[in-house]
Amino acid sequence: MKKIGIIGAMELEVEALKDKMEIHRKVEKASLEFLEGMLSGTEVVIVRSGIGKVNAALCTQILCDIFEVTHIINTGVAGSLKNEINIGDIVVSTDALHHDVDVRVFGYPLGEVPQIGCLAFQADTELAQLAVACCKEVNTDIEVYCGRIVSGDQFISDKKIKDNIINHFHGFCVEMEGASIAHTAYLNHVPFVIIRAISDKADDSAEMDYPTFEKAAAAHSAALVEHMLQKIK
Ligand code: SAH
Repeated sequence: MKKIGIIGAMELEVEALKDKMEIHRKVEKASLEFLEGMLSGTEVVIVRSGIGKVNAALCTQILCDIFEVTHIINTGVAGSLKNEINIGDIVVSTDALHHDVDVRVFGYPLGEVPQIGCLAFQADTELAQLAVACCKEVNTDIEVYCGRIVSGDQFISDKKIKDNIINHFHGFCVEMEGASIAHTAYLNHVPFVIIRAISDKADDSAEMDYPTFEKAAAAHSAALVEHMLQKIK
């Protein structure tokens, strides 16, 4: 029997899912509230991790240790790193990496955490394929892309910083949690996928766009996750 851990960094990324689930148990741990129960006929644990990589990593570890989830889905919003990926569109992860890790002085490529053996953490292909197929069914007004998601403890709203990240990592979108969820899931041998709807273009327009579009973008991503749960058996 599958048990899916669902993480959103912010309340608006998980509130619609929480409202629809049947709650069996509430558990408080590390100042987080984990809701265990059923959604769309699937066993789930839904949690708001808080923003940034540390919050997301510790939340993921608790899902693995205490709730023994079999899979992890991260839903939320992100800044686009490609001209053709517009606000509202969805990116499903092929892999994820930390764009703010730099240990090049000891010969590691930019982004690689030393002594871990890989630059990027691979998402589960079955979950990713299911996400793309479900997106085409449920969000017919937008495009869905499958590609690399890059994360760091920075809100990217400067074209120069954005271009630098694109040149180094060839990511499809940038956010602040995905890679640490991927990293933690990888160390625990738990399959994962990151699903992000675009809230901004991660350049000088991001500060204006983000507050305008975050709610609608978060809702797109959550609707997709809800639909996926109906198909996960
Ligand atoms: N509005 C919040 C802060 C949001 S930080 C507050 O005031 O507290 C941005 C969130 O959206 C993070 O969770 C991150 O994962 C995602 N995100 C969206 N666009 C981003 C961008 N351009 N750069 C980095 N993270 C972004």
